[in-house]
Amino acid sequence: MTSNSTKQSTTTPTGGNYYTKLYAKHTIKQLEAITGTLSQPSKMPCHGYSLPASMCTTGGKLHKVENSVCKSCYALKGRYVFPNVQSALVYRYNSLVRNPVIWQHALTELIRRKEKSGFFRWHDSGDLQGVYHLRHINNIALSLPDIKFWLPTREIRILRDFKQDNILAPNLVVRVSSFFISQQPHRAFTHTSTVGWSNATHSCPAPTQSNKCADCRACWDTNIHNINYALH
Ligand code: SF4
Repeated sequence: MTSNSTKQSTTTPTGGNYYTKLYAKHTIKQLEAITGTLSQPSKMPCHGYSLPASMCTTGGKLHKVENSVCKSCYALKGRYVFPNVQSALVYRYNSLVRNPVIWQHALTELIRRKEKSGFFRWHDSGDLQGVYHLRHINNIALSLPDIKFWLPTREIRILRDFKQDNILAPNLVVRVSSFFISQQPHRAFTHTSTVGWSNATHSCPAPTQSNKCADCRACWDTNIHNINYALH
């Protein structure tokens, strides 16, 4: 294990100058041609970026398990399976895996231009694809310190492996989601989320406010350790 002092720290990612200058000259349409469009989850006060739920590694296994949160995954039904939505999700996925470095820098510029709320949500559909993916997401947060990022995940191993050699950006909250309905929060992580956990002290208020976040920003708040959601 690498010591804390030698972990990649909260500094501006190296090697980014060339791309920063390059993509600053791109139009939003040109940037979207590289990364795909940002998503606009109806509940959220901000943009997001989603990937196909069919590419979730842990979620794909849980989808077959009774009582798992992924069994009734909202991102595998409804509007998410419309052909135009699916093709947008696949476009983003292909952009990531084709060249993660270009993906990172073009997406940084796209978020910088488009996100004016000060908040951003990763993965209203989909999940982390590997340590490399989290590293690039972390670099985006480091490059955009005025935006708070929230990333929910069930990819515990990826998060653990990332933390061996890296430090999460202070403006990136990664919440580990419990696998099963009514299951308690994962004890090994500071920031978590649950579904239908009866002992929760903070529950998502969206169901009582027309399924909108409205003024709530709890998911991005590092002082709130666990957030409990109603089952979709
Ligand atoms: S806890 Fe708050 S910020 Fe998070 S999803 Fe619910 S309403 Fe939105």
